[in-house]
Amino acid sequence: MPHQKTVLVTGGAGFVGSHCVAELIARQYNVVVFDNLQQGHRAAVPAEAELVEGDLASHAALARLFSTFRFDAILHFASNSLVGESMRNPHLYLYDNVVNALNLIQAATENGVSKFVLSSTANLFGMPDRMPIDENTEIDPGSPYGESKFMIERILHWADKVHGMRSACLRYFNAAGAHPDGHLGEDHDPETHLIPLVLDVAAGKRSHIEIFGEDYPTHDGTCIRDYIHVSDLADAHVRVLAMLDHKSCRYNLGNGRGYTVREVIETAARVTGRDIAVKTGPRRPGDPPVLIASSDRVRKDLGWDPRFPDLETIICHAWDWRCRNPDGYASHMTRELVGAS
Ligand code: UDP
Repeated sequence: MPHQKTVLVTGGAGFVGSHCVAELIARQYNVVVFDNLQQGHRAAVPAEAELVEGDLASHAALARLFSTFRFDAILHFASNSLVGESMRNPHLYLYDNVVNALNLIQAATENGVSKFVLSSTANLFGMPDRMPIDENTEIDPGSPYGESKFMIERILHWADKVHGMRSACLRYFNAAGAHPDGHLGEDHDPETHLIPLVLDVAAGKRSHIEIFGEDYPTHDGTCIRDYIHVSDLADAHVRVLAMLDHKSCRYNLGNGRGYTVREVIETAARVTGRDIAVKTGPRRPGDPPVLIASSDRVRKDLGWDPRFPDLETIICHAWDWRCRNPDGYASHMTRELVGAS
């Protein structure tokens, strides 16, 4: 019987990480999640995965982790990931994100791990003037967050050259949606992303959604983004793992189609059947007018083909998760308490 591969998923209790864990388990991998549970949720980690609570800043915690398990590969999601916060507190990103990744990469190379997949970002490209954005687009990070991911990409470049550790850097556009079966979804505190905020309004948890700027050079004046279903992201991670033997790679992950903020709100109103009150606010600093991916390379190399490319399905899955879990993962805890009493 073939050896069952063991994968370490840092940040596996978070939004994209937990969907990747589900995908890995579905494809018969052993999974160890390492997460400090500051932003992640215990309830997002399935019983089939081993959850180790810990922080990448701790050398002792990493030493324990790597002496307990032997990993064939690492998927690295754990990081601070808010563009706005990084503009206010660059240190948290340029120091913490980078040092934590360095600690992990050092432990990986010392322990002979041969494959590493990094959760990277479209923010690497800043404000490009040509669309779509492919892997040859000039890198010019739009924030300390994007810069921190680029620095980690460079560290991985040298980990390959010096230690032969192969890496894949996956630059996501706007991750959205929820697991199609409704058991995993998006639950951030604070929530800053457009789709969950719009669904909060639909659910009556917020009075309105503020549109950050209606004076952009787009057809309705609001920003255009390429929303990509979180399960399609998970699929790309697991595919890339399987082919990451000979050569490191970088891929942009999006649907190649953009929607304005107004179009997202209209689609959400249609999907939920609710009115969504809107107010116009000022532009959010650092927001590029348009971000659309070219994912031709990943399609060609990995045969990746998004299963849920249309915005309506993405929002429908996010709404389904919201209806089943009105308080996010806290709803799981409430159900467990009620079930136990
Ligand atoms: N946005 C908005 N109001 C909000 C949150 C977001 O108008 O309350 C806009 C934001 O300016 C951007 C788009 O929605 O154009 C997507 O933002 P999000 O924060 O979801 O992702 P980002 O593009 O920053 O990664």
